[in-house]
Amino acid sequence: MSWDEIVNHKPALERFRRSVDRNRLASTYLFVGPEGIGKRTFALKLSEALLCEQNPESQLQPCGACPSCQQIRAQTHPDLILISKPKDKAFIPVETFIGDKEHRRQVGLCHDIGLKPFRGGRKIAIIDDADFLNQEGANSLLKTLEEPPPNSVLILIGTSEQRQLSTIVSRSQVVRFEALTNPQVLSILERTSLVESDEVPLETLAQSSEGSVSRALKLSDPETLEFRRILFSQLAGLDPGQNNFSKTVIGFIDGAGKDSAKKRERTVLAGDFSISFYRHWYMNLSGAQQDDARVDLSINPYVEDAIGTWEDEINVGAMVAAQCIERTIEMQGQVLRFAGSANVIDTWLRDLGRICRGKFVEA
Ligand SMILES: [Zn+2]
Repeated sequence: MSWDEIVNHKPALERFRRSVDRNRLASTYLFVGPEGIGKRTFALKLSEALLCEQNPESQLQPCGACPSCQQIRAQTHPDLILISKPKDKAFIPVETFIGDKEHRRQVGLCHDIGLKPFRGGRKIAIIDDADFLNQEGANSLLKTLEEPPPNSVLILIGTSEQRQLSTIVSRSQVVRFEALTNPQVLSILERTSLVESDEVPLETLAQSSEGSVSRALKLSDPETLEFRRILFSQLAGLDPGQNNFSKTVIGFIDGAGKDSAKKRERTVLAGDFSISFYRHWYMNLSGAQQDDARVDLSINPYVEDAIGTWEDEINVGAMVAAQCIERTIEMQGQVLRFAGSANVIDTWLRDLGRICRGKFVEA
């Protein structure tokens, strides 16, 4: 894959080209942007370019054929450290960074990144899921961030700056990545075989992706797509706490099977869908310019229903939508930190109903 196939991230590439050109590459970067838009792919391509043994670093253009490029692609390069949150954990364990109690600072990322590069060049570490760094994990990294080993590059990847601990942000160069457009998602789906089933047309997936490939992939499951439709029509009725709707949501979550990580994923997804709904509602009422290439036009009929039912003033409606988003993010946080329960879902849906009836939650 060449840089040309990494769509939509030219500004970030240009920034790295300038830094490399001036020999001013930073030691720590924080990549932020919505999930599923290619931040990790970009980080891997950048690593390939920095470690390529054929083309000089100043070109920032990996040859794709030398042993180093090949090893990056196979993710077996000895100078590339890849970290992500284990599926069954709520956070990236501190042991990943500094080893367990018996081997403190003798193994783990902070130790490994300080070793002499095996193939010459540099050591590069990519920490995916940086949203799931807890205080302990972040603290264990601070020494490495403050005194980075020469020629090392650390890339943290998260969804937003706000979700990172300030100790990390203040020691990083922040690089922002924009969501893709829905047509760009479609072209990625068309030229890759990421979507295995053909039950849902790729156009439908792209249209509802809101610029995220991973969102499109999740929607390729017809059960998920159908749940999303039911959820939207319930939210449009302004009282999702009613009629035992929590049973429907819990049924969808339990449909993931016994695996608690998969259940948690579905709970967060139900939250993400709700946030999309309220965001469209908010944009509609606040008169914000909608970028048709990035919004999900299929949500609009439900949002129009909600607004049609809404009797209060328009600016109150926008405030309600904003509060519902906040309450949903709170629910997702609870589920990610403490695992979900029927109770969490039930209270969340009831609160959405209360907010829609004008009973604001105190900030
Ligand atoms: Zn190469």
